[in-house]
Amino acid sequence: MHISIITCLPRLLESPFNDSILKRAQTKGLVSVDIIDLREYATGKHKPVDDYAFGGGAGMVLMIEPIDKCITDLKSKRHYDEIIYMSPDGELFTQSVANELSLKKNLILLCGHYKGVDERVREHLVTREISIGDYVLSGGELAAAVVADAVIRLIPGVLSDETSALSDSFQDGLVAPPVYTRPAEYKDWKVPEILLSGHQARIEEWKHEQSLERTHKRRPNLLK
Ligand code: SAH
Repeated sequence: MHISIITCLPRLLESPFNDSILKRAQTKGLVSVDIIDLREYATGKHKPVDDYAFGGGAGMVLMIEPIDKCITDLKSKRHYDEIIYMSPDGELFTQSVANELSLKKNLILLCGHYKGVDERVREHLVTREISIGDYVLSGGELAAAVVADAVIRLIPGVLSDETSALSDSFQDGLVAPPVYTRPAEYKDWKVPEILLSGHQARIEEWKHEQSLERTHKRRPNLLK
């Protein structure tokens, strides 16, 4: 998979892809991530990528021309399955959207900033709009990192134990059971005995019961 992230603030995306699972996924060649600086597609002496909103109102708007040039350039190099604009009023990002996107080959994630992007970008250039929740961020960069992270960890081979993505919350419509590690007793807080029993079948059964119980308590909507 290849992910191109278009941003006017590339530095905001430096660290999420340079550590841990996301970094290893790239080193293993399972995904490549390009952070593209919108400013490289700006024209004029000061290379502006934003301008005042027509009709007034506070806040700058990302201009259509650099975004169009950037997307056109990217599309000349590969076919993209989706061109996704990160937007607070977009389709809500869920594990099932992450699953769907993890099956795609190439994705563009477009980050807005300030007041957002010129509406014509949304009308003519993007294929999909995704929100990571009903709140407003300063820019799409953190949202794009969230989407890329959730998608990349689902690519087969990214997590060392393939089943560990499958046993995460939401994958099977349930939240995950609790997990524990050593020591088995800390202060007088004990790990559930069943987990130390070595009886794998009973442990699996216990985990499933815990998942159901927790889903019932915490996310009853998933059981509907
Ligand atoms: N004026 C816009 C908000 C702009 S926020 C409005 O009221 O809807 C600036 C940028 O941050 C947006 O263009 C978008 O790319 C990003 N952004 C903000 N909140 C987001 C969210 N919840 N999900 C995804 N992207 C978001």
